[in-house]
Amino acid sequence: MDLFEYQGKQYFARYDIPISRGGPADTVDEAVAEANNAGYPVVVKAQVQVGGRGKAGGIKLADNEAEVREHAGNILGMDIKGHVVKRLWIEQASDIDEEYYASYTLDRAAKQHLLMLSAEGGVEIEAVAESNPDAIVKLHINPVDGIDVATARQACVDAKLPERALDGAADILVKLYRCFTEGDCDLAEINPLILKPTGEVHALDAKVTLDGSAEFRHPEWDAFRGLTEMDDREEMAAEKGLQYIGLDGSVGIIANGAGLAMSTLDVVNQVGGAASNFLDIGGGANADVMAGALEVINFDESVKSIFINIFGGITRGEEVAKGIVEALGRVDLKAPIVIRLDGTNAEEGRQILLDAGIPESKLRSEPTMLDAARAAVALANA
Ligand code: GDP
Ligand code: MN
Repeated sequence: MDLFEYQGKQYFARYDIPISRGGPADTVDEAVAEANNAGYPVVVKAQVQVGGRGKAGGIKLADNEAEVREHAGNILGMDIKGHVVKRLWIEQASDIDEEYYASYTLDRAAKQHLLMLSAEGGVEIEAVAESNPDAIVKLHINPVDGIDVATARQACVDAKLPERALDGAADILVKLYRCFTEGDCDLAEINPLILKPTGEVHALDAKVTLDGSAEFRHPEWDAFRGLTEMDDREEMAAEKGLQYIGLDGSVGIIANGAGLAMSTLDVVNQVGGAASNFLDIGGGANADVMAGALEVINFDESVKSIFINIFGGITRGEEVAKGIVEALGRVDLKAPIVIRLDGTNAEEGRQILLDAGIPESKLRSEPTMLDAARAAVALANA
């Protein structure tokens, strides 16, 4: 789960990483209230999950209430690289002497954590990697050992941070590592990490990706939900606890198991179609899950046919069939279903579908994945 800057900063604050005083705002009036609270001058910052907001006009300094009104009014609703700004973050403006870059990620190949640090911050790190790769210090960290202040300080020396920034930066690197590990992040990035004229070092931006697999031990992450940038379909699917990703095609996909779901997308492509989604209903999905999955797909205007691809292992054919029958009773499906039902209790499942007397125009069964894909794509392209 990707966090917005203001959520990332709130997460940083839990680990004592210094950030500017500020608050989120959804309206111009709220922006003014937050600015008065933070103290002028302030920065008005668009909250969208895309970099380069500054260049796009989504970050503005304001010296007084009138300027906050003007900038907040302009930035709310602004389209930044396809992301519409619905929320702002207002914070006390900082004086900047220098801008650095710091991040932790997991280096899977090395089986270690990776610190990246550069004295050339504020610009995208990919650009630095291209133009001046030597300006990026990369340090592998054994997760068993972690990183201590002395090691962090040496990394800052290696990255040629000035003497007066070393202690502050090293302290933040240690705290950011705690945030990354104890906070279960896939990415914890500060760009820019700034040095102020006062000598303080401070996080001016925050990019945090939380590791979804660790969600079970972070009930507090619920607060971040609903605000993340999902499309309406994905939001609906998330509410139902479904593994769903929205795509651009017209064939709705329901499969059990992520591997089968991906193969299903491939087969649909192979026969000249395009999937409107990825949806894995998982192992052992019952009737209710199937009905929920169909509701999400039915909600999607661009779906012209629905391809249900089930190879039952733990998932049982009769449960799948019951779910479909239940869904057909619950919602008026706008698109026809093509089903390939195989594996555990497939016979019983097909019998249930037959007994339900669903007309051929609404549901048909095909013996193989390829046949079903062809039928679904033909319906979608009709
Ligand atoms: P991004 O462009 O989306 O990564 O947004 P950032 O939060 O990183 O801000 C982009 C740039 O705006 C920074 O690199 C700074 O140069 C500038 N900026 C942001 N906040 C402040 C601030 O409080 N004071 C000053 N002087 N500049 C700021
Ligand atoms: Mn940034």
